[in-house]
Amino acid sequence: MERLQVEAAALEEYAEYRRIVGDDDGGKLFTPEEYEEYKRKVLPIRLQNRLYVSWRSPTGMDCKLVGPETLCFCTHRYKQHKTDYEVIPKERPICVPCRVSRCQCQSYHYVPLNGTQPIRCRCKHFADQHSAAPGFSCNSCSKCLGFHSCFTCACGQPTYAHETVVETKQERLAQGKPVGQDVPYAAMGGLTGFSSLAEGYMRLDDSGIGTPPAELAESLVTSMDHPFLKAFEGPSSSAQTISQIAGGSSATRQVSHGKHSEDDDMAYFEKRYQERLKKEKAAKRKEKSPVPSKKPGD
Ligand SMILES: [Zn+2]
Ligand SMILES: [Zn+2]
Ligand SMILES: [Zn+2]
Ligand SMILES: [Zn+2]
Ligand SMILES: [Zn+2]
Repeated sequence: MERLQVEAAALEEYAEYRRIVGDDDGGKLFTPEEYEEYKRKVLPIRLQNRLYVSWRSPTGMDCKLVGPETLCFCTHRYKQHKTDYEVIPKERPICVPCRVSRCQCQSYHYVPLNGTQPIRCRCKHFADQHSAAPGFSCNSCSKCLGFHSCFTCACGQPTYAHETVVETKQERLAQGKPVGQDVPYAAMGGLTGFSSLAEGYMRLDDSGIGTPPAELAESLVTSMDHPFLKAFEGPSSSAQTISQIAGGSSATRQVSHGKHSEDDDMAYFEKRYQERLKKEKAAKRKEKSPVPSKKPGD
């Protein structure tokens, strides 16, 4: 039992590592020092410069929110593309090129499936029989003018009328589209709907609703924590409660995290982040330990 718990904790730790690092370690696990360095370097950029990727119908509806595992026209997953930008390019559209060696994909391009099957081009060949290089020419015939599919989306519009949109948080907000919570995970694409913030990534749904539960939303409004941590904190903000009890009147309460230098912020963030990991693990352990079943009549 003890050993299983240790293994479960190690698995959870690994899963979290993978969510954050994605493929950035090139298949060779970072050392703990490299991992810390990676988080220090990448997370602030990622939180600041997240790109949202969706597949949009001509009516402006996001028919598909692209997630880390969503396949591209090039047959690689979104997470295999360049999804982190230190500085967001000025030009539009923003390109998200594939990082798989020798892949010619210049930017992530969503293509729907027909059930589990690839869809067909008007040249009658499947999507994956076409080149991922610009122009999307067919590898199996010479009459194709570039991939073009009339396959009808659930919204009633043909595939060819949709476009893959890559946009910033500000650009989405300006259109009244959901942006969800800030998360440290790699290649989140357009995912904004959390069915449970505490569970994070594994329970992410792609509904795009992105509305946290009411009590959480309230705690976010009153929380004085770092904005990133708000996304992770559960409904109870104990620090807030304690300061209210200790300070008495809320009018005299100080905003304590308003004037941090960036370094302080990161140290604070890191500390709280580690605490959260520990808490999550403890909760997981509790969940997993079997509840002793009562025999009837005992
Ligand atoms: Zn590719
Ligand atoms: Zn691609
Ligand atoms: Zn063809
Ligand atoms: Zn074709
Ligand atoms: Zn559609």
